[in-house]
Amino acid sequence: MDVFEVIPLRAFTDNYIWTIRDTRHAAAVDPGDAGPVLDFLKREKLQLVAILNTHHHADHVGGNSELLRHAQVPVFGPHDPRIPEVTHRLADGDRMTLPHFGIEFEVMEIPGHTRTHIAFHGGGMLFCGDTLFAVGCGRLFEGTPQQMHDSLAKLMRVADSTRVYCGHEYTLSNIRFAKAADPANKRLQELESRVRQLRDQDLPTLPSTIAQEKATNPFVRCREPGVVANASKYAGKPLNDPVSVLAAIREWKNNFR
Ligand code: ZN
Ligand code: FE
Repeated sequence: MDVFEVIPLRAFTDNYIWTIRDTRHAAAVDPGDAGPVLDFLKREKLQLVAILNTHHHADHVGGNSELLRHAQVPVFGPHDPRIPEVTHRLADGDRMTLPHFGIEFEVMEIPGHTRTHIAFHGGGMLFCGDTLFAVGCGRLFEGTPQQMHDSLAKLMRVADSTRVYCGHEYTLSNIRFAKAADPANKRLQELESRVRQLRDQDLPTLPSTIAQEKATNPFVRCREPGVVANASKYAGKPLNDPVSVLAAIREWKNNFR
């Protein structure tokens, strides 16, 4: 196995299509648009060897069929007929080996944003789509606060050093909200200045790490007294459990300007 790199390709306004590449091969995670991937393959003279899908939303799978016309490769994704191109359907605890790279991923079912959302965890990396973002989490389109809470808790059990590759560049606006929900958190201020510098240079703020999320992400800090207090203030009543706190700050963020 060659040494590999993980390269973000920008798509739409703020999506990242993460690619794993060596000198000759590339795999694409959540190719919502085929264009950026095809340009990248051509420019770098790489052969596409696999597609990984975390969930069925068009901004994550919309490029599948065009990429498959270009190269017939395995498509790894959840048990969900809404992604018809998937050739290898994966469930919680399943393992898969990335063709040509030999990286072994464990599949984690992480419902909340969608009912069938999965993450790929392996090689010190976590590809988590729209469930966990840097300093945030996905909207609850098909799941409950309880499911999102449990999914985030599950992700927080992987090693602290794991690099977290999220589906969108939302970090700066997530920090703006997190400062309201967790104002006493000094780590947020530090992170904000670093993230601002990166964004000023138009650079990605990702990957994050599990350790960074534990320190800064209000949605995984639903037991922290500061977050509980501010969530309770928003809800207008004392909240006594982390799921209620998550539900409150998720709703708060939906309306946060
Ligand atoms: Zn999504
Ligand atoms: Fe998305």
